Amino acid sequence: MAIFRVTKDGKQCPVNKDSSTVHILPSPNSQTSLTIVPQFLPREKDIRRAISENQLFIEYQPKVESKTGKILGAEALVRWKHPDWGVLPPNQFIPLAEKSELIIELGDWVLATVCHQIKQWKESGVEIVPISINISAKHFFKVDLVTSLVEMLEEAKIDSRWIELEITETSLLENEDKVATAIRLLTQLGVVMSLDDFGTGYSSITYLKKYKVDYLKIDRSFIKGIGIVRDDEAIIKSILYLARELKMKVVAEGVETEKQRQFLIKHHCDVIQGFLYSKPIQAEELIPLLANRRIVLKRTIGFGKFRI
Ligand code: C2E
Ligand code: CA
Ligand code: CA
Repeated sequence: MAIFRVTKDGKQCPVNKDSSTVHILPSPNSQTSLTIVPQFLPREKDIRRAISENQLFIEYQPKVESKTGKILGAEALVRWKHPDWGVLPPNQFIPLAEKSELIIELGDWVLATVCHQIKQWKESGVEIVPISINISAKHFFKVDLVTSLVEMLEEAKIDSRWIELEITETSLLENEDKVATAIRLLTQLGVVMSLDDFGTGYSSITYLKKYKVDYLKIDRSFIKGIGIVRDDEAIIKSILYLARELKMKVVAEGVETEKQRQFLIKHHCDVIQGFLYSKPIQAEELIPLLANRRIVLKRTIGFGKFRI
């Protein structure tokens, strides 16, 4: 069965593998409108090869100040440019990598690549912003995470304030001493910490008291409900209130509409991230945005939509 990947300009690129099942995915790659891939079950050795043969790459999604569009930072999101299957989103390979120590290798690759990218931006005079990196639980508890991060920062000659880490609630389920030590060491190093997908896992408000993180990221599943599901709105308002009282900052993820942005501004959510402002983009595409320091939303006449 022939499978094609359809690019933005309408070209069809053959994707050769034979399979009777296809998935149609919105591509994470901003150059490609659709990726059609066969049911793809990568093996560990494929991922290992992807790392060693430089098939992985990173896209960056800006985090902006909700009222002004000022770029406050960006999140690094890994993708895999597979020679046969095209660009694969992280949910097609991260879960497998997480089953073994491979996630540590992959995580180290992301850390090193981001440090190197920041170094390059710095050297070429680009206005840099902190870049946040997703860290899996296994990697978070690796005893030498801090040591290897320090080495990477030293090697790239960049300050720790340019790197932020995003962990999920699963990371907090480990034994208390381990979590407290990991957070303490990273905070001492000056690394800003976020709790990702907040509200979707086994969250317990007690964790917020026990472990001090800088940011809570409200999951997209709640943001989607703005203007539609009263309960979602109530949860968002409660998270914002709680964070304010605990002196934590909040990022709203997956903001796609002006209505959602207005709701978040009204309820004092200062930082947003989502397709409304920008999809994840290549490093080169981020440079002009950083030079402007802000993303301006323009109304597209006739459609009532907001675009960059
Ligand atoms: P995440 O950390 O929650 O990242 C946000 C995801 O939401 C990204 O998907 C992003 O492209 C998507 N997104 C952002 N704004 C919008 C929006 O307005 N609408 C919609 N529909 N989606 C939006 P992506 O890049 O596919 O990443 C999925 C997950 O893969 C991430 O979720 C994260 O858990 C994991 N991941 C990505 N990169 C890495 C990495 O380097 N290391 C690890 N351990 N995990 C990663
Ligand atoms: Ca994240
Ligand atoms: Ca998230």
